[in-house]
Amino acid sequence: MVKIYDKAFLGDKVQPLAESNLNIASAAVLYGLSVYTVFPIHIDDNGKLLAFRVKDHFERLINSARIIGIDTFEQEWHVERFVSAIKETVKANNVRDNAFVRVTVHVNELVPGTRSRGLQTILSIFIYDAVPIIPQNGARLKTSVWRRIPDNAIPSRAKVNGAYVNSVLAKQDAIDSGYDDCIFLDANGHVCELSAANIFIVRNGTLITPGTTSDLLEGINRKTILDIAKDLNIDTVERDIDLTELYIADEAFACGTSAYLAPVIEIDARRIGDKKTGPITKEISKKYLDILHGRDDKYRHLVTVLD
Ligand code: PMP
Repeated sequence: MVKIYDKAFLGDKVQPLAESNLNIASAAVLYGLSVYTVFPIHIDDNGKLLAFRVKDHFERLINSARIIGIDTFEQEWHVERFVSAIKETVKANNVRDNAFVRVTVHVNELVPGTRSRGLQTILSIFIYDAVPIIPQNGARLKTSVWRRIPDNAIPSRAKVNGAYVNSVLAKQDAIDSGYDDCIFLDANGHVCELSAANIFIVRNGTLITPGTTSDLLEGINRKTILDIAKDLNIDTVERDIDLTELYIADEAFACGTSAYLAPVIEIDARRIGDKKTGPITKEISKKYLDILHGRDDKYRHLVTVLD
């Protein structure tokens, strides 16, 4: 079991995690009507706690709520209040290790029926150990028997809790088959993403990832990786990817807060590259980890000092 810190933020204050509950009659519980985000904190070389791209996470939370029609959150919260609640929660838990911070906006209105507008919301924050969801030294993926939910059913662009049943089905199917995670395809057979991470491949020196209209979450790390690649003069393309392109990719990796940057060494029993971390993946990964830990001056503005 991953370690969860024992103080949480709920509503407007820090309190014991064990007492941080939602009503069983709330829309959050009944319909999975919550939106969330998760971002990492790391200790830098001077012992400072750094949170990665907090403002972008706040913005995505707002956008997720907007897509779903949860309109009260935006009226009650702004980024300064958001950062201050995070700082308060981190301080109360005396966090001194790398950790993930999960922030959720729950619709806690009781039995509202299947609607979203004008309903009461409550924000929660809890912190847990930064244990990656897939192996960092070579992940094995399986194409899922489950399709990615399309934008006109439940949009993947909105990080809405209820939609994660789709990820649960696909991830469990992959685990049941002896793999680490899944590859989701859309209705046309194009590659979308993993259960909770974005995907990149390298072909002939070009870094390729599905575009943001490919039924995927607009990952904050995905954007970071694209910026890093441009900085390193690596050609990048955002376009549809066929499943069979994965099979013949020179390199592949997954990225996301909880996946970090994980090289992919096998997909559907086919080896990728020579089953080792490829040179472009290695180059991007080094810079990415430097940025997360505040070691890259050019990107230092992306981290917020929490203590
Ligand atoms: N796709 C899905 C479905 C996810 O759940 C995540 C993790 N939040 C990602 C991609 C990666 O997003 P991010 O880089 O913002 O963590």
